[in-house]
Amino acid sequence: MALITKAVRGTGDVLPSASYGWRYIEDTAMSVARDFGYHEIRTPVFEHTELFQRSVGETTDVVQKEMYTFNDKGGRSITLRPEGTAGVARAALEHGLFNQALPIKTSYIVSCYRYEKPQAGRLREFHQFGVEYFGSAEASADAEVIFLASLILKELGITGVSLHINSIGCPECRAEYQKALKAYLESQKDGLCHTCLDRLGRNPMRVLDCKSGECAKIAAGAPVIMDYLCGECRGHFENVKGYLEAVDIKYEIDTKIVRGLDYYTRTVFEFISDELGAQATVCAGGRYDGLTEQLGGPRIPALGFAMGLERIWIILQGKKESLPDPPRCEVYFISNGEQARKRCFAIACRLREGGIYADCDTVGRGFKAQLKYADKIGARHTVFVGDDELKTGRARIRNMETGDEEEVRLDSSLYTVLYNKSIDRQLADMAEMLNEASES
Ligand SMILES: [Zn+2]
Ligand SMILES: [Zn+2]
Repeated sequence: MALITKAVRGTGDVLPSASYGWRYIEDTAMSVARDFGYHEIRTPVFEHTELFQRSVGETTDVVQKEMYTFNDKGGRSITLRPEGTAGVARAALEHGLFNQALPIKTSYIVSCYRYEKPQAGRLREFHQFGVEYFGSAEASADAEVIFLASLILKELGITGVSLHINSIGCPECRAEYQKALKAYLESQKDGLCHTCLDRLGRNPMRVLDCKSGECAKIAAGAPVIMDYLCGECRGHFENVKGYLEAVDIKYEIDTKIVRGLDYYTRTVFEFISDELGAQATVCAGGRYDGLTEQLGGPRIPALGFAMGLERIWIILQGKKESLPDPPRCEVYFISNGEQARKRCFAIACRLREGGIYADCDTVGRGFKAQLKYADKIGARHTVFVGDDELKTGRARIRNMETGDEEEVRLDSSLYTVLYNKSIDRQLADMAEMLNEASES
């Protein structure tokens, strides 16, 4: 039988050699968000197709071309989530979270699905860390969410990222803008691609997102929404800028950010890396005051962002010093003889109960092959147990890096020895970090 060795196009595996790095990114993001009061929410990977049609919007590329939609065996139209926000808003409405004290702050890690042309940093199954903040129209909420994203990137050691912000106004001022935009695009009609001609009638702002070179040229000369903001939207944007300045967050105003999703209002923002080439956006978000109403619920002003974990992983792989070391075996027990093998097994299991990464032979290797294996997996220490060690209850623990040895007892005192070694190492790491911090 032929071996099945190919994953579906546009999907990827995270192997054990990389998964510790992914977990580090996810844990860092979650714990920074927790310090701002964000709590994890988990929603299903698939939802009723209508949810995304109503939230993301019928006229978007995502809904028109990119969704994984199918009928289940009960004849329901089901869609794999193309983004994280809609499901969270649906869950919050369904479970009455908005009846609790506002704001409601949620965080999540999700896989998302879009049928696009796969390329580096853009897969068909991709992963996001995101937050959604429900219950405030204040500019301080916008600044909090932006500061949170920037702090996560900083904690991860991701430098060379710039924050781009824009305001796309409210439905009132956007209507004015769309009139002006449509008039401009009508005058450039001959240059637009086929898809954009269709967009022109239904949602002219989508033309600004078009990936065709000709359309991008036309978009570059289009009127910008910033010039059409109503007094309230302008005031809101000024306030957001003021709050960002209060926490020393640098930003650029970028009138080209309009977001491909229909539910955004007012503030939109992106963090753009100078290390990723074409797929340079590592985090994108904004305000979506109209979403809950669009889903049939009350109007709850809200905002959020999503970070592309694949892209963050690509950046961190180029900065190994920003990643922690992969977990390493603290002690490997090398045994000679069946008696010793059983003793090693028992000691290793006791150490594991105490949270120490310990290992021993369960394959049936001879002691020389065991030593080779301990070396291969990069064990920090080895302990050899043979007939003599069994008799005396004493053995030598060897530091595999320095070759230093010391005598230990083969009983619970070994736990204390290993525990102290790992604490010493952590203290040394911390001292080194503090030194570097005081030097810079
Ligand atoms: Zn407005
Ligand atoms: Zn186009």
